[in-house]
Amino acid sequence: MYHLPVLKHRRTLLERAEKFISDVYFTDCNLRGRLYGDSCPLETITSFLSAKRIPFSEASTQNFAPYKVGDTFGPTWWTCWFKVTLTIPETWTGKEVHLLWESDGEAMVWRDGQPVQVILQMYDVGLTKEGEKTSYILSECLKDSEPHSVTLYVEVACNGLFGAGQGSMIAAPDPNRMFSVQKAELVVFNKDVRALLTDFEMLVDIVKELGEGEQRGYQALFTVNEMVNLCDPADPGSFSKAHSLAHTFFSQRNGDSQHTVQAMGHCHIDSAWLWPYEETIRKCGRSWVTVISLMEKNPDFVFTCSQAQQFQWVKSWYPGLFSKIQQYVKKGQFIPVGGTWVEMDGNLPSGESMVRQFLEGQRFFIQEFGLHCKEFWLPDTFGYSAQLPQIMQGCGISNFLTQKLSWNLVNTFPHNTFFWEGLDGSKVLTHFPPGNSYEMKGKIEDLVKTVRNNKDKGRANHSAALFGFGDGGGGPTQLMLDRLRLIQDTDGLPRVQMSSPDSLFSQLQADSALLCTWTGELFLELHNGTYTTQAQIKRENRQCEAQLHDIEIASCLALCRDRTFQYPQEKLQQLWRLLLLNQFHDVIPGSCIGMVVEDALKHYEEIRRDGNALLREAFDALGSKGSSVGVFNSLPWERREVIQITDGSKKLALVSAPSVGVSPVKDTQPVTPVSITLQSDGTVLMENGILKTVVNKDGTLATLNLTGANREAISDGCVGNQFVIFDDVPLYWDAWDVMDYHLQTRKPILEVVEPVHVVSSGGLRGSVAFTLRISDKSTVTQEIVMDAMCPYIKFNTKVQWAESHKFLKVEFPVRVRSPNATYEIQFGHLQRPTHWNTSWDWARFEVWGHKWADLSEYNFGVALLNDCKYGYSIHKNTMTLSLLRAPKAPDALADMGTHQFTYAVMPHTGSFQDASVIQCAYNLNFPLRLIPCSPDLVPWSAFSVSTESVILETIKQAEDGKGTVLRLYESFGSSVTATLRTTLPVREAWHCDLLERRDATQPAHVTTEGIVLNFKPFQIVTLLITL
Ligand SMILES: [Zn+2]
Repeated sequence: MYHLPVLKHRRTLLERAEKFISDVYFTDCNLRGRLYGDSCPLETITSFLSAKRIPFSEASTQNFAPYKVGDTFGPTWWTCWFKVTLTIPETWTGKEVHLLWESDGEAMVWRDGQPVQVILQMYDVGLTKEGEKTSYILSECLKDSEPHSVTLYVEVACNGLFGAGQGSMIAAPDPNRMFSVQKAELVVFNKDVRALLTDFEMLVDIVKELGEGEQRGYQALFTVNEMVNLCDPADPGSFSKAHSLAHTFFSQRNGDSQHTVQAMGHCHIDSAWLWPYEETIRKCGRSWVTVISLMEKNPDFVFTCSQAQQFQWVKSWYPGLFSKIQQYVKKGQFIPVGGTWVEMDGNLPSGESMVRQFLEGQRFFIQEFGLHCKEFWLPDTFGYSAQLPQIMQGCGISNFLTQKLSWNLVNTFPHNTFFWEGLDGSKVLTHFPPGNSYEMKGKIEDLVKTVRNNKDKGRANHSAALFGFGDGGGGPTQLMLDRLRLIQDTDGLPRVQMSSPDSLFSQLQADSALLCTWTGELFLELHNGTYTTQAQIKRENRQCEAQLHDIEIASCLALCRDRTFQYPQEKLQQLWRLLLLNQFHDVIPGSCIGMVVEDALKHYEEIRRDGNALLREAFDALGSKGSSVGVFNSLPWERREVIQITDGSKKLALVSAPSVGVSPVKDTQPVTPVSITLQSDGTVLMENGILKTVVNKDGTLATLNLTGANREAISDGCVGNQFVIFDDVPLYWDAWDVMDYHLQTRKPILEVVEPVHVVSSGGLRGSVAFTLRISDKSTVTQEIVMDAMCPYIKFNTKVQWAESHKFLKVEFPVRVRSPNATYEIQFGHLQRPTHWNTSWDWARFEVWGHKWADLSEYNFGVALLNDCKYGYSIHKNTMTLSLLRAPKAPDALADMGTHQFTYAVMPHTGSFQDASVIQCAYNLNFPLRLIPCSPDLVPWSAFSVSTESVILETIKQAEDGKGTVLRLYESFGSSVTATLRTTLPVREAWHCDLLERRDATQPAHVTTEGIVLNFKPFQIVTLLITL
């Protein structure tokens, strides 16, 4: 097939071929230079600039002024609408005609009032400039009968694919960036040149990727060299000979054992990140319009698409596009995946929030497309809770796809295809595409990497490859599809087939006999700063989760008390969706720009405002609208706590509140009041009969004694409540990463501005306050509160924070020795080591947890509780809570300002389970709420549970309005039988899944005592009851 022998010089042959297709060198005589033929200017270009993102109908009626190519427009985040008129020359009949448009920003073409098939984008942030993405195909083969005069609109968003970072991608956006169009003309596009270029590119890549060790690489080298010999760029007649040589090479088949790559189009669109939510809506529009146009031309093309919220946006902003999507979903080409409302963070949302992500997502997909997702899809999130497998299974999902653990800084995760076993033993089949990417380009490199990286060689012979520009959207291109088509079965390369998640996972399941199992969380050894960054977002998330929890319970109870009460189903759905949106994997982690933070805080404000109104309505129904004061307890145990009556008197009261119920405030006296003694050395002794502590002048705890057991909690020679500050300069990902070396820069905060002094002198509550200076710009003021009857001490903290690249934490060195500490996660808890034996141990120098963490030895321990923090580190015997960070990118003002938060310390005897640490952490996070009530309100409890280990987490109306949903979980890690007692007249009770689908085979066992339920450790049980 080759007509002359060549010298044995790999480099010259390879570079010769590269130069033949270079867009930089020798374009006067090489093949690349022939991609475009004749060109012709446009007739007119006019433009209109808008500060807002407006719909086409509004934009098209504006006054457009003449625009000259090269003129600038902007600034950042504005939109420039162009109106373009053009006439295609008659002589171009039979040719493929493109509008060539090269501009900054992201653009969408509109024709006849609709977004049309191809978007125009210049990838200006280090991505390759894909030819077909800067041109709009006016005609694939111009006919005389076609309209030659056309008017188009081009909507150019003044932001790049990755926002507008000043100087680097993740830097805070440059608000003053200006944009321009560099080229706008009509051109003849030579399709045959494009096809031959693809042959050349793929062969050159095979030579490079297979390297010198493989015979097949040399065959590609000689083939491509001979193609250069045969191809005369000036003579299209010569192309077929070169093409048939390539064809021969690509058609040589593999043997049976070859690995199969299941390719799926994908387009990862962050719901907000370096751009605001509103721009994401247009990113979806731009990306998915392209996808649909590719589907029209490529009936085998499959595209996977996650996040119900994004579908919802497209439905309301681009209804025409949405109905096309519905058609292609029906055909099985456009595949909704993931089953969640957004691709949420995998660590921080509460258990109930995670359930709601699936509930809202799956219900949306069923409603709009008649299908529910069978796989959870979270390629780009910063770690995965050990409770996810159970939640997935409960939502009808048995498969999971991600790849983020390939970002681990320290340890290489040992599997690509495996069973992931969660906290309760639930298992899901899990696949990490071995190419370690969710935005492949269909290139040889992607495929070779997929085979080579596969850590389950011999166990799994199928892998996924997700292709399409991602993160900022973009999606697949025709070129990517052409590449993949060329090498479907080419000897030496993996087989490639266009596929779907369903087919991938069915194949993996069928061959799963040898797969390994990974038990417990999938911890990402990177981005550990995201447990702390943007503290305000985290606080709002925690508090709004609690508020929605309380609204649902109060409303269900109100409905029982007052049949005329309307359960606010629609409003609650709206508020939940806002909360779920903010749990997106660049919002709640705090890795977003300032504009997103503003949007997120507005959403929280709406949840709080509307939520408060809903609570008031429910409380009115519950308390019979009287003039007295009562309390509402949403938690499933009786509580006796000191509360402040905010009816103007600001007086304190020790109240009793029944489990999930209401009672009037009847002040009772504590068994032992709190006593506060200012000592001669300036320290303060605080005692409440349970705890005794001495607070030093600088606010640290000199001692913390558990009175009954006479056990000291603070380590010898140390103090508790020690604020410490660290230098916090990561390697690159500023808002995301805290590096191990920050620990070497620890400095205690010692400078006292105002020494400790008594604020509340005792009785029901004793408290002291002090102020420390963190730096000349920052201070911390704290009130240490001891309540009567309360087994923990609260630290109400206010920080004035104006630091740069610093990390504030608080430490409690405790008199406890244990190789493991315990952290609360979604619907349960898990242990992590307190030592740094192996690389897997020390890579977890900063970890996440929810409302509490505990360090216990036999019969004694100390718990740290908090009301809005997520970052912890417990090393040896020092328990540390992470408080505030000060990264400067992508939000230059992240965390600057005033912060308020509360944490608490709780020494205890026995185990944390027996000491009610879990209940105390709930109490701290779900304060008793005051309600107006009639003076004769009788204390009333709707539900209680016979055993402390089982927590009734959620009470809500069923989504379909038929019945009440109760969600309980086993919180101790024990197998137990519990009775759910209720004063409500339960007519029927059924087990159901997390999507509230009744299990007809499992009626709940109702006795005169209540509903009897069996739990395995950390099991979540959902009941559907009718009253
Ligand atoms: Zn992402």
